[in-house]
Amino acid sequence: MFKINLHKTRLKRFMNSRAAANCRYQPTCYEHAANCYTHAFLIVPAFVGTALLYRLSDDRWERLTAWVYGMGLCTLFLVSTVFHIVSWKKSHMRAVEHCFHMCDRMVIYFFIAASYTPWLNLRELGPLASHMRWFIWFMAAAGTIYVFNYHEKYKVVELIFYLTMGFFPALVVTSMNNTEGLHELAWGGLIYCLGVIFFKSDGIIPFAHAIWHIFVALAAAVHYYAIWKYLYRSPVTELIRDV
Ligand SMILES: [Zn+2]
Repeated sequence: MFKINLHKTRLKRFMNSRAAANCRYQPTCYEHAANCYTHAFLIVPAFVGTALLYRLSDDRWERLTAWVYGMGLCTLFLVSTVFHIVSWKKSHMRAVEHCFHMCDRMVIYFFIAASYTPWLNLRELGPLASHMRWFIWFMAAAGTIYVFNYHEKYKVVELIFYLTMGFFPALVVTSMNNTEGLHELAWGGLIYCLGVIFFKSDGIIPFAHAIWHIFVALAAAVHYYAIWKYLYRSPVTELIRDV
């Protein structure tokens, strides 16, 4: 019993108690720092990765796609880092913090749309499936309007929206004739889903949100690898390397 209590006291330094319904969890200083660093370290790699895809592009369509995807990637880590810094250091500025928190949530919808864009733009799609190219941006806009109006009000609805947006375009992508890269896409999706467990575990698992950030980074890296390998790395480069 004494041991359990000692363990709990130790954990308390790293984790606060769970938030009440419709309230936000208040991270400890350690958790705030971890939340900032876990995404801040990825800002530069995201820009480098964008530049690499841009350089590998063979035409304007590929360049535009690299730019859209890259901006989604960079914006996600940038906005997330800024929000967590504001939430840590400027939490007394409630309106500013609230605004950044909304941006942090909105950017996830655009990030999902941007992550699908290379597959939808650079692979052969059927006439019906090709509508998904613009429909994902429509969903991202709808998600943004939802956050604007009902931010933090119905957390379960918000989670369902994220999962729907994450999986619905996959129906189209998996129906493509060319199935190269689908394994990596599925692995990335699975990592995101496992991460959601931590996204929902603030106040239950210490550093839950920072762990969620790591899952996001891992899944994004797997998806980036697949996009680089199957959609951008030119066959000529492959030939030279194989020789
Ligand atoms: Zn975060």
